[in-house]
Amino acid sequence: MNQFRFSRRPDIGGKIRVSFEFFPPKTDEMEARLWETVTRLAPLKPHFVSVTYGAGGSTRERTIRTVRRILNETDLLPAAHLTCVDADQEAVDGVIGEFAAMGVKRFVALRGDPSEGVGAAYRPYPGGYANGAELVAALKRTSDFDISVSAYPEKHPESPDFATDIEMLKQKVDNGATRAITQFFFDNDLYERYVERARRAGIYIPIVPGILPVHNFNQVANFSSRCGAHVPDWLAERFEGLDKDPQTHALVAAAVAAEQVLDLVERGVTDFHFYTMNRADLAFAICHMIGIRGDLAVKRAAPAAA
Ligand code: FAD
Repeated sequence: MNQFRFSRRPDIGGKIRVSFEFFPPKTDEMEARLWETVTRLAPLKPHFVSVTYGAGGSTRERTIRTVRRILNETDLLPAAHLTCVDADQEAVDGVIGEFAAMGVKRFVALRGDPSEGVGAAYRPYPGGYANGAELVAALKRTSDFDISVSAYPEKHPESPDFATDIEMLKQKVDNGATRAITQFFFDNDLYERYVERARRAGIYIPIVPGILPVHNFNQVANFSSRCGAHVPDWLAERFEGLDKDPQTHALVAAAVAAEQVLDLVERGVTDFHFYTMNRADLAFAICHMIGIRGDLAVKRAAPAAA
């Protein structure tokens, strides 16, 4: 039976699309590392790559610079993240205009977290866009952009219940969102249930799973508790005792991510968004496993010489 698994089909790579997320580097050293990562992942021909926008617009210039460099120096299609935090509508519209003038056609539209930090009560900036849905509408008024929005398989921590959470996603879709990208998760059943809930609510855009390869388990566990993503006990157990053993940690991380992605492929998922943390190795390995080989895939698909 095993050879009939969808994820084991020889043509699987041609059926799957991936996107990669980067954050704008702070230092020259980080910039060099990001560029190595971009260079390694670019041949995999991702659907698009996205660049995050720091809290309160703190990375505004660095996000713009990174997106510009991707546009100028690669064939990749960049998506600029944008938030509503600490900026009035005129300021946000100004940033949208700046990206549009550069040739950016894709955005990831977010409300963002309060500048005091995750967990603090969110208050819309006076005269600003109140949430992701309003930002989507503003983008759509400007041009027919490709707009990704967030989705939360475990619901957003501020959502009182799933119905409210899905209603928020519905507003973003009604205002023109092209696709949703999920917060990372480790239990595929949660994702599947969320997608079912969304479909029942009449949401039909792609809901792309956000995959976080675990480069550093302690950091992930710490961050997860703040953003409402659950770290299952079995996952903690897999990384237990590996703090000072980076080699085994990396092998376990690759195995964990591969297990998750291959299971999603079996469930029919064909689009994946990788939170790369500006590192190529794990994302590259997982893409390799699902048949995404860049130039190699093109060679394999070519007809055999007569
Ligand atoms: P929204 O979708 O606008 O709202 C989130 C939740 O807030 C809703 O589910 C709802 O519970 C509540 N809410 C908001 N408005 C209302 C309303 N009118 N009525 C009732 N409830 C409401 N953060 C960054 O700072 N920079 C980034 O680049 C970034 N990229 C991200 C990319 C992805 C794919 C994801 C999933 C998250 C990203 N984040 C980023 C984190 C995000 O900013 C936070 O999760 C933030 O807390 C919510 O932003 P949002 O766009 O999801 O909010």
